[in-house]
Amino acid sequence: MKIKTSEIVMSAVSPKQYPDDGFPEVAFVGRSNVGKSSTINTLLGRKKLARISSSPGKTRTINFYLINQEYYMVDLPGYGYAKVSKDERASWGKIIETYLSSRDNLYEVMLLVDIRHEPTKDDQLMYDWIKHYGFGKIVIATKSDKIPRSQMQKQFKLIRETLKMAPEDKILPISSLKKQGIDELWKALTDFFIE
Ligand code: GDP
Repeated sequence: MKIKTSEIVMSAVSPKQYPDDGFPEVAFVGRSNVGKSSTINTLLGRKKLARISSSPGKTRTINFYLINQEYYMVDLPGYGYAKVSKDERASWGKIIETYLSSRDNLYEVMLLVDIRHEPTKDDQLMYDWIKHYGFGKIVIATKSDKIPRSQMQKQFKLIRETLKMAPEDKILPISSLKKQGIDELWKALTDFFIE
């Protein structure tokens, strides 16, 4: 897809603030520091549209990025930050639940995991959750520049098995640093947008 325009139109804390123009939407979710902001910036060819986190776990908003005045990419708040209280966890859960359960124009939710590590318990719960809502066909494995190519298949297998992915679900490796895997991810996104 050729990106003519991209802009953040809303940082929402409540559903009343979600954009209501009905454009197709794909959302990204993952633990803090997994590389979600970097992925969005790289996809959009922007350096700092999505904030690269200096204090992980602090953003509790849902950010809507409008592309070419016709699609949204949605940045869901990260999880797994060690220093959050029980109340904060509960409020995070509510924000995500409300979003997932109420969004008619949501076409896909992509989980991001770090290619180097076994998905955490939180990742597994998150993946189960998005699967429950009928999403999770694509898992993005971030920071692919951090491992040699020869180790990729082994990591894919670990991610696939830990998350209990279905055979038809895909893992897409990407590196925002080296700009690798971006075209493949764009292709997958476009398929969802025009579905
Ligand atoms: P977020 O908290 O999920 O939004 O993660 P960020 O995008 O803020 O990235 C967290 C950290 O990982 C930052 O220090 C980034 O520079 C780094 N990072 C993100 N993507 C990559 C990547 O593709 N390769 C490498 N080597 N580092 C990355």
